[in-house]
Amino acid sequence: MADSWKTGLVEVGADAYAYVQEGGGMCVSNAGLIVGPESCIVIDALFAPSMTQAFQAEIKRVTDKPVRLLVNSHHHIDHTLGNALFPEAQIVSHVNARAELARIGVSPLERLRPIVPDLVAETEGVDMRLPDITFEGMLTLNLGDREVRLQHLGRGHTIGDIIVMLPDEGIMYGGDLAFHRVTPLAFEGHIGDWLAVCYRIADRSPKTIVPGHGPVGDMAEFRKMSGYLSTIRSQAKASFDDGKSEEQALSEIDIGEYASWTEPERLAANVARLFLEFREDI
Ligand SMILES: [Zn+2]
Repeated sequence: MADSWKTGLVEVGADAYAYVQEGGGMCVSNAGLIVGPESCIVIDALFAPSMTQAFQAEIKRVTDKPVRLLVNSHHHIDHTLGNALFPEAQIVSHVNARAELARIGVSPLERLRPIVPDLVAETEGVDMRLPDITFEGMLTLNLGDREVRLQHLGRGHTIGDIIVMLPDEGIMYGGDLAFHRVTPLAFEGHIGDWLAVCYRIADRSPKTIVPGHGPVGDMAEFRKMSGYLSTIRSQAKASFDDGKSEEQALSEIDIGEYASWTEPERLAANVARLFLEFREDI
């Protein structure tokens, strides 16, 4: 059994919070809140309106300052469909995340409908609101005296992931570059490059990591996730080099302790992506 954690706001530093959602499975993502002297920054807007509204109620519980800026950690709809519920905020993302959102829009809802029907039913009539501001590389926001650093570290979970760092305190909001106790999913990513991004994150030595799915953790928790990526990559590569089929590789990979993480069946999508990486050298 995977460990459980509760939905709610978790204080990760002075005026810095994670909003985690229990279970962390499909469409059940996390968000963040940084409270400044005059306004707040929110990181990710969640999926179904009831989720975003519950998060907004928690925000109101700790501050009456308005949310003026909303960061999208990447384009996935479980982090961005709630954008429309922050009409007063400017939205910022990596340039690739905005391009993917503009290209894909709300079309993933149809694929998700049979998987999470109740949540998708709630999203009827909700439009995708695209980011207003985009950047490449790094963007520094100054929230009063506090530096909030948004950074793209390369292709990983998607082509447009960013981390949000509070560098003085070693707090990192990792978006879906970080999954804790929930199986990471790379259906639109690049696992080889994601591992390189994991090294870049380790170089920054964050003390506290807010993942895109799962409970708040530290580098030890984060390393478990990169361990999952490296173990499936090395086993799939050995199978590929032996001329085995994707199906054969999938049936032979031993994920060990990771079998207890939420949604272990994501291995199939991850192995499919790995074979694409090996075969087409993408
Ligand atoms: Zn994602």
